[in-house]
Amino acid sequence: MADITFRIERTTAVITFANPPINGLSHAARAGIAAALERALGDGGVRGIVLTGAGGLWSGGADIREFGTPASSAAPTLHQLIEQVETSPKPVIAAIAGLCLGGGLELALSTHYRVASATATLGLPEVKLGLIPGAGGTQRLPRLVGAERALDMIVSGEPVAAPALAATPLLAAVVDGDPVAAATELAESAGVAGRRPPRVRDLPFDDPRLAERCQAVRARLQSDRPPLPAPRRAVEAIEAAGLPFDRGLAIERQAFVELMASPESRGLRHAFFAERAAAKVEGITPATPSRPLDEAAVIGAGTMGAGIAVALLDAGLPVWVLDADQAALDRGRQRIAGIYDSQVRRGKLTAEERDRRLARLRPTLSFDSLAHADVVIEAVFESMEVKREVFLALDRAVKPGAVLATNTSTLDVDAIAAVTRRPSDVLGLHFFSPANVMRLLEVVRGRATAPGVVATALKLGKALRKVTVVAGVCDGFIGNRMLEGYTKQAWYLVEEGAEPEQVDRAIEAFGFAMGPFRVGDLVGHDVSLAIRRHRRATRPGYVNSTLPDKLCATGRLGQKTGGGWYDYPEGPRQPIPSPAATELIARHRAELGIVPREIGEAEIVDRLVYALVNEGARILEEGIAARAGDIDVVYLTGYGFPRARGGPMFYAGEVGLRQVLERLREFATNRHGDPAFWTPAPLLERLAAEGHRFEPG
Ligand code: NAD
Repeated sequence: MADITFRIERTTAVITFANPPINGLSHAARAGIAAALERALGDGGVRGIVLTGAGGLWSGGADIREFGTPASSAAPTLHQLIEQVETSPKPVIAAIAGLCLGGGLELALSTHYRVASATATLGLPEVKLGLIPGAGGTQRLPRLVGAERALDMIVSGEPVAAPALAATPLLAAVVDGDPVAAATELAESAGVAGRRPPRVRDLPFDDPRLAERCQAVRARLQSDRPPLPAPRRAVEAIEAAGLPFDRGLAIERQAFVELMASPESRGLRHAFFAERAAAKVEGITPATPSRPLDEAAVIGAGTMGAGIAVALLDAGLPVWVLDADQAALDRGRQRIAGIYDSQVRRGKLTAEERDRRLARLRPTLSFDSLAHADVVIEAVFESMEVKREVFLALDRAVKPGAVLATNTSTLDVDAIAAVTRRPSDVLGLHFFSPANVMRLLEVVRGRATAPGVVATALKLGKALRKVTVVAGVCDGFIGNRMLEGYTKQAWYLVEEGAEPEQVDRAIEAFGFAMGPFRVGDLVGHDVSLAIRRHRRATRPGYVNSTLPDKLCATGRLGQKTGGGWYDYPEGPRQPIPSPAATELIARHRAELGIVPREIGEAEIVDRLVYALVNEGARILEEGIAARAGDIDVVYLTGYGFPRARGGPMFYAGEVGLRQVLERLREFATNRHGDPAFWTPAPLLERLAAEGHRFEPG
């Protein structure tokens, strides 16, 4: 609920608006500010007005709880409020602390002077939702900070710290601490009080290099995949700031309205809301007691263990790292130091900060050292035998109530928990490589996992600044279980006639960060070979292509052996088609009696993406994921699915589930490979028949 306070200081009215948590400009907030302004204008003793936000921040922008509801467009709209402020005959001064974003900054731009605290951040992040500022931001900001900086801020959506803007007319002053006192001083000063307030819209904007600057940004945007409309429309609107103000405003408005209806914005807004929704977990409320998180431990300091340790150290925790022997432990310590050294080399971290973080690292060979750890994350080899040994040792050594987590990719978390006398304290924390960089953390809730342990995992995810998604126990959880069918289709496509680079190109043009063959070369083919062998041995009727097995047999295990599906003569980023792989593929096709056929881009994309969708539907139906949006978040933050397409489940809804289903049935008529693979998930069939999407509403 918005809350407005009004007080008079000498001849200045100070209006403070509050709408926690971010002082969103809800209808109640807008109406409250408008009424307080009226009151100040009607008060003959008031000569100036200071407008400020409560709770140490100005405003984070629109109130997203109102998105899509009638309240979002009820009068006074943000446009009307902005007009009221800008045309006020008494000067209005914004006192800005903390966040000043989106519609919040647009409101501040309509005031006549702005004073900010040095810790305030200002930005127009609308492009991140596939939009542009729609309340004059693209017209007023360039008039205050110049075209170059406005282009930077609006096209990137990144916020800027107030001191960096101190030299521009955007900010009349940047002060330490609370800006209200300085704003009031300004309101009372001779140059402001009783003078005609200057309006940003009246400022001249005649940058002779405007067109050239806009052209340069457009050229940079050429390499976007898939091409996104919002940054381009932002450039167009900023270029229109060179026209008379109201013409520019109309061009901004037109672009905003069109973008609101664009599939990209729908996808980006879905991604935004799905990430927030993923934090809400069944059976967990803010009242669920979580456990302390003051000391952490990591078992196994390999690729994953080192990255996890860095993530924990970055969050300020002291971290024990345990490995099997001194040599492995030393290698682990070097790996961790190496991650930090490279950050120092790239200027991302100071040497002092690296040293502070490394000082919290405690290498050990003894489980007894971990007695007081609050959370232990195991990242040893992917072997049930080795994991069992580790969990037996942890059960003996670590205090009661500690959270015991496994980073396993494929093993049964319930079986690991059952090794201990405290299965309710055990769960999976599935990190993605590199663990200190990737945003996703899959939290795997076992059959016995206590709610307090899940709550602690969510708290840890927040401390590590990860996006957490809770999954149930199954082979591969959400992400890797879906990936199995996706990579399988990639191999079948090649068996049938596509080349690896053609498959990668098609899915990268769709917007994936990297195609399946490049990913395979990066991860190493021996890893997936071990998983396939395990599945062949344990799953009756398991069917898959033997093509990647043959690649492994030649010793081409990926980048680590110098090549896999591709050769890499100039380092990891420069794959070129490999004659050796091409020959291997041709031989494989001949052995299977396949005459290669021409395969189009649409078939490649549909087979890969619908393989994800169909398995995602099963995952949803089995309750492994609580909502379709959770599956989307996993793919957006852990697997490089293009954010503007909203994730596989949302994308399927955009295409239409009926059409997806038809395509699945078409693919099932292809006798090659595994026609049964395309058996539609019952949930997909039902929702398609009902004309629904995966996500409700
Ligand atoms: P890795 O081989 O790089 O590291 C394993 C480490 O565990 C080594 O340092 C090894 O010395 C140590 N270790 C082995 N046995 C031990 C024992 N009994 N006690 C203490 N330490 C022991 O492996 P990795 O790639 O880091 O994978 C570790 C785990 O993370 C696996 O379960 C894997 O499935 C999972 N995982 C891997 C990835 C990935 O991309 N590599 C992603 C997610 C999850």
